[in-house]
Amino acid sequence: MPAVPPPRSRVPDVLVVGGGVVGLTCAWYAARTGAHVTVLDPAPGDGATHAAAGMLAPVGEAEPDDVAATALHLAGAARWPGFARELADASGAEPGFEAAGTLLVGYDAGDRDDLRRVLGTHETAGLRSASLTVADARRLEPALGPVAAAALAPDDHRADPRATHRALTVALATAGARRVRAAATRLVLDGSRVVGAVDDAGHLHRAGLTVLAAGMGSVALTTLHEAPDAPHVPVPVRGVVGQTVRLEAGPDLGLTRTVRGRVQGRPVYVVPRAPRPDGTREVVVGATTEETADVRRPRTGGTFALLRDARALVPALDETTLVDVTQRARPTTPDGRPLVGPSGVPGLWLATGHGRNGVLLAPITGAALAAELTGRSPADAVALAAAAPARFAGRGRSLTLEHDRRTA
Ligand SMILES: Cc1cc2nc3c(=O)[nH]c(=O)nc-3n(C[C@H](O)[C@H](O)[C@H](O)COP(=O)(O)OP(=O)(O)OC[C@H]3O[C@@H](n4cnc5c(N)ncnc54)[C@H](O)[C@@H]3O)c2cc1C
Repeated sequence: MPAVPPPRSRVPDVLVVGGGVVGLTCAWYAARTGAHVTVLDPAPGDGATHAAAGMLAPVGEAEPDDVAATALHLAGAARWPGFARELADASGAEPGFEAAGTLLVGYDAGDRDDLRRVLGTHETAGLRSASLTVADARRLEPALGPVAAAALAPDDHRADPRATHRALTVALATAGARRVRAAATRLVLDGSRVVGAVDDAGHLHRAGLTVLAAGMGSVALTTLHEAPDAPHVPVPVRGVVGQTVRLEAGPDLGLTRTVRGRVQGRPVYVVPRAPRPDGTREVVVGATTEETADVRRPRTGGTFALLRDARALVPALDETTLVDVTQRARPTTPDGRPLVGPSGVPGLWLATGHGRNGVLLAPITGAALAAELTGRSPADAVALAAAAPARFAGRGRSLTLEHDRRTA
């Protein structure tokens, strides 16, 4: 980021549709380029951001068959320390970033074999992880239960998504961004250019650049593409529902790293946060994965399984207090990578479909938008190619883009 922002006249006004962690990060980066920014959202922060555990896990999330996604995740993780520092400075609020590393564990013999296979894929991909004896793992984390195998992923860190969202809200207010509590109902064309969005009160919000960052809400703005003469902007996003459980632990829970593993084949993680001044701390257990409708009422069986498997890895969780169960849908594309970049239609930029890694990828997404606004090539251009919207050209549901009487 430049120390002195360019004059406002050089960058377009920006309308960000969606105020989750991705939308607010985009809005903040845009504001720092000198743009006039408006964020449109009826319930900012109440989407997937509210459920996310905040693992920043390029290693734990690595898919051996998708090298490009892993490169994107590594580039996203590399941006977090600077992003967290700058956000804390700008807002006076901590986003809860902790470079604490992650323990990878397997509960039984089958899970141990699975962990060995995963560590092999890390080695092949050049990712840092190291096998540990269970005794050494327990020296690092005395709260660890009777696991069969363990390893350390030293570069998988964490942040607090709710705290990050709060800090972004303050930073945006300080930067003079406008926030409107309303939902976009459609994006508006003037000629062949997107010029903004109409909200559910009928107001047209005009902007030089409209950024679609509505997570699952992006889907409601799409339709099956049937009009061959209308611009086709594919946004193939579906929901993958997940729940996380928030616990409050007392000062006795000695857990500093995220513990992530499998229990009889089922994935589960335990993410501790730094202790509060009174010694208590939040612990997040997650996450279920269900290809069901975008419902927010958590299924009891899902919560039960999460708590059962988490206490198998960290038995002391029995002594915590259950505070909150949150279920949301992860906005997910067919290949699991987000849509970040120019949409192909002038005036419209996409920042959606971040799936399981939207917290991890929020800073790199915001930085890509800032590069677009200032006409510079993004520093992470090679990694960001994996997220180019053009890879879905001609396929699936398309954004509905209509002319507005007021703009005709
Ligand atoms: C259980 C669970 C655990 C997760 N854990 C992690 C994790 O550990 N690490 C990680 O990196 N990621 C994690 N994720 C993924 C992460 O939460 C998402 O990728 C991320 O929140 C996406 O951010 P977003 O801003 O795009 O979407 P959201 O957070 O869903 O925000 C979208 C916003 O758009 C608004 N909106 C919707 N429709 C409209 C409209 N028409 N007009 C205006 N505004 C609209 C909504 O109100 C909402 O505020 C997890 C997700 C879940 C569900």
